[in-house]
Amino acid sequence: MSKYDYLIVGSGLFGATFAYFARKAGKKCLVIDKRHHLGGNVYCESCEGINVHKYGAHIFHTNNKKVWNLVNSIVEFNRYTNSPVAIYGDKLYNLPFNMNTFYQMWNVKTPNEAKVKIDEQRAEAISKMEGCDPRNLEEQALMLVGKDIYEMLIKGYTEKQWGRKCVDLPAFIIKRLPIRMTFDNNYFNDRYQGIPVGGYNVLINGLLEGVETNVNTDFFQNRSYFESLADMIVYTGQLDEFFDYKYGHLEFRSVTFKTEILDTPNYQANAVVNYTDRDIPYTRVIEHKHFEMFGDEVYKCPKTIISREYSAEWKPGMEAYYPINDACNNDLADKYRSLSSQHSNVIFGGRLAEYKYYDMAPIIEKVMSFVF
Ligand code: FAD
Ligand code: UDP
Repeated sequence: MSKYDYLIVGSGLFGATFAYFARKAGKKCLVIDKRHHLGGNVYCESCEGINVHKYGAHIFHTNNKKVWNLVNSIVEFNRYTNSPVAIYGDKLYNLPFNMNTFYQMWNVKTPNEAKVKIDEQRAEAISKMEGCDPRNLEEQALMLVGKDIYEMLIKGYTEKQWGRKCVDLPAFIIKRLPIRMTFDNNYFNDRYQGIPVGGYNVLINGLLEGVETNVNTDFFQNRSYFESLADMIVYTGQLDEFFDYKYGHLEFRSVTFKTEILDTPNYQANAVVNYTDRDIPYTRVIEHKHFEMFGDEVYKCPKTIISREYSAEWKPGMEAYYPINDACNNDLADKYRSLSSQHSNVIFGGRLAEYKYYDMAPIIEKVMSFVF
């Protein structure tokens, strides 16, 4: 008889949500994580009274009421709305691309004026495409918003973030960004959005309440022992690592965060500022306090904490962040997936094990689809 019903490898949102539902169904789980803390990439570290998003800015957003109700049953969410601004040259532009951006870019004031301008900007790309679908990110961006916005707000940022030319990147990446003919700087279209009050650790600790957890514990350090502990394994680590990289490494982008405490209460007046110029080495600057402090609250805390994000190619030993879903990596991932289908006692879930670009809410949605 195994000691546990489930051994869960990884305490990120996938593993923690899985453990939550399994425990509620009366199952016995052990969650292990190789990091020194629980929570995976949503983990926050408190410093100067500010929750620092240690692995990059995380904003929860969803249209799914069941997901929203679930997370709110564990922790209250605040009213944070993500409205990043982009800096290019000496000018600021609102994101996502909306009437404010079009006004800042071309001085157009009405949707009709903006539409005429965008159509003019897209015309060249449309004629070159001759009715074909966009084959890469550059074509997709030019089709959507045209030349000026592509060159000033997309090209440099994207090539820094992905370390590849826009013509070599899949079109779907840019489809994530909304384009609006209204004065609306909300980055997301979803109905529900916010940050857990007290930070993401409250959410993770709530999900894992009553579940046995071990940090600083790497599954691969003692694989056969861990495999013997449970009837089923939920694996949320890297897909290729599970198979000992037998077909080679899947590629990822990694990010290095350079974090500083500054002796000023309000550095950039916004949580997220993107630097879209190719020559500036970082992609964005996060000022963490703005996720949880609004209006005058910002000044109650005399210091602030910022993180500059430097994108880098992943190498063994670094944190794997963004799967690179180009044709070559997708083919390799498929080869690994066909091996994983032979492991009927293992559930492969989450960003790393599915090698899929997942936001937080779809991760929870996916776990909710399992029958426990
Ligand atoms: P992870 O959080 O990566 O958890 C996997 C865990 O498995 C890790 O803790 C790891 O240590 C552990 N692990 C791996 N291998 C082993 C092993 N061998 N043994 C033991 N443990 C192991 N989503 C949003 O909805 N909004 C956002 O604003 C947003 N911003 C993001 C910004 C960045 C920079 C990144 C990279 C992602 C962002 N996301 C965002 C996505 C979000 O982080 C993911 O959807 C979510 O964290 C994925 O959870 P997961 O459990 O699949 O993976
Ligand atoms: N993007 C861009 N300019 C920006 C912000 C985003 O060109 O100022 C592009 C870039 O290609 C990025 C994609 O839009 O990979 C998706 O951006 P998002 O902010 O949703 O990505 P994430 O938060 O996951 O890094």
